[in-house]
Amino acid sequence: MADIIHLLPDNIANQIAAGEVIQRPSSAVKELMENAIDAGATDIRVIIQDAGKALVQVTDNGSGMSATDAVRSFERHATSKILSIDDIFRIKTMGFRGEALASIAAVAEVVLKTKREEDQWGTTIEVANSSIIKNEPVATPKGTSIAMKNLFFNVPARRNFLKSNASEMRHIVDEFVRIALAFPEIFFSLSSGNQELFHLEKGSLKQRLVQVLGNNYNARLIPVHENTDYLNIYGFAGKPDTAKKTRGDQYFFVNSRFIKSPYLNHAVMNAYQELIPADSFPAYTLFIDIDPAQLDVNVHPTKQEIKFEDEKIVYAFVQAAVKHALAQFSITPALDFELDASIQRLDAVSKPFTSKDRTAATDSPLYHTFSRQHQAHKVEKSELKDWKSFFTPPGEASPSGAPYGPASMQSGAPAVEEPFRPLTQSLIQPEETALSAALLPESASHYLQLLNTYILVAHAGGLFLIHQQAAHERVLYEKFEASLKGKALASQRCLFPSVLSLSPADSVLLDTLVPDLAQLGYLIEPFGKDTFAIQGTPADLETGTEKRVIEQVLEQFKHATGSLQITPREKLIRSLSRQQAIKGGTPLSTEEMQHLTLALMECRTPNVSPFGQPIYAVLDQPSLERLFG
Ligand code: ADP
Ligand code: MG
Repeated sequence: MADIIHLLPDNIANQIAAGEVIQRPSSAVKELMENAIDAGATDIRVIIQDAGKALVQVTDNGSGMSATDAVRSFERHATSKILSIDDIFRIKTMGFRGEALASIAAVAEVVLKTKREEDQWGTTIEVANSSIIKNEPVATPKGTSIAMKNLFFNVPARRNFLKSNASEMRHIVDEFVRIALAFPEIFFSLSSGNQELFHLEKGSLKQRLVQVLGNNYNARLIPVHENTDYLNIYGFAGKPDTAKKTRGDQYFFVNSRFIKSPYLNHAVMNAYQELIPADSFPAYTLFIDIDPAQLDVNVHPTKQEIKFEDEKIVYAFVQAAVKHALAQFSITPALDFELDASIQRLDAVSKPFTSKDRTAATDSPLYHTFSRQHQAHKVEKSELKDWKSFFTPPGEASPSGAPYGPASMQSGAPAVEEPFRPLTQSLIQPEETALSAALLPESASHYLQLLNTYILVAHAGGLFLIHQQAAHERVLYEKFEASLKGKALASQRCLFPSVLSLSPADSVLLDTLVPDLAQLGYLIEPFGKDTFAIQGTPADLETGTEKRVIEQVLEQFKHATGSLQITPREKLIRSLSRQQAIKGGTPLSTEEMQHLTLALMECRTPNVSPFGQPIYAVLDQPSLERLFG
């Protein structure tokens, strides 16, 4: 046989490497803005066309480059920022690996214009497929302008992988905001199409925050400021009343670089404990300055993760600093608790699953039964015929040949050893579902609620254990799904439209959801910059909750992705169903339990929630027999 290993041609290898750095238009926005900051610019303007797919252009008034450096800047590992390995441990600039421009030049067409103060002429360079196709002197102001055009024009596979414009634009706004917040002393502007989305004059950090997060933060930010030998923490924490149902406005920066840190977020949340409802998120923007030697630089710099040499110390500092700030705020007489009553009201309405409830639930054997179902190694070969008989009262023969499941499952496939056996795929057959719905008991005494979280349905064939929230999520999900495909849900005009002020990023997101939300009964209209008016809600929605619903849906939406590739629509209805579902811990009347059980049985997929959790399990005769030997 012939040898089969060959070397990738340079251009393909380049494109693959470049794809790691430039994954989408927003990566270029980030890299180009960081370069402008490193070049000492005080004025940085970003122009976007077609969500960055056609154009990302960043213009700065920074140092500019010499004609030679301009050419060199496109070579891989070309950087002016480090000379030796030791520099890496002292690095203060945003970028240092000399990869961004080379990567952009490998996957897009680039036009660079640059001029240093001391030069009479600037340089313009055009690059395509990593080769310079034009290099001329040009008259241009001091600074640098880099235009990235037609991203992935030569890598169609990657181009196809880009998301909708709305989604790519959201990523761009996120990156832009993260950088703009960290450098309030720099002027930034972001335009898309012909519209200027942000125009951020230089000013103090507080002014920048208010510019970006919205005017309603003006009187609601508490300064955080602690200096120690080890690190400095500064920034702002929102007063407790800024706590929203959405996590949106939470930012950590370490040495001016935006990072995501669930760990440090936890430290902040801890400081707010008792001050805000359990399921809400305070706004904060916190900066940590720390000796770079205390950071692990091996963490990939384009990732937003960071590793501290001593995480515990940083956690303790962050928590103490925020606590301290909040304590100082609460001794001032001008307490601003106007929202408190409404938060409490909301709290009572939503009855969050408190940690106490959760412990109670997770300690219960039921919980273990539900969660044990994935332990496939504990299954034994066993009689699958029992599956069939569950819905057939004892004494009656099971209808012969009825399609209860795939043939393989009928012929002695393994069943789970636990007494409570989760229903398997075999039970989601439509025939099966109809059968089970018809057999639901009508007598109220056959329904019982356990731990305010599970519904027990006693039936001649055994016991049915239903997780009420998961069940309701499924029911709502299928209802929403149907209304998106067909007739819109009925909507009721609000007498007093509620006004929703959002961060620019959330506002871009909500914009994209407006049509689908209308189909689901929520009539939302733009109402000025980053503000929306809720004009109508589904007829059955409790009045006064619509704002919270939308905020929570946005929040869910942002976190509903996981690794799954799901459409925004799908995400929306999943979020909405989770938001609207009765939560664990809510007492239900018998009618409600009956109603929910029946509605569940009428679902297409009654056994898994929209989030993939099991909805019910059964305790039938064989499992009872096993249980008692
Ligand atoms: P890095 O930022 O990691 O050094 P880049 O590929 O982003 O690598 O940039 C390569 C080099 O090009 C930089 O080190 C810098 O010298 C120069 N450069 C890039 N953008 C600018 C800019 N906006 N102004 C001045 N010089 C720049
Ligand atoms: Mg760079």
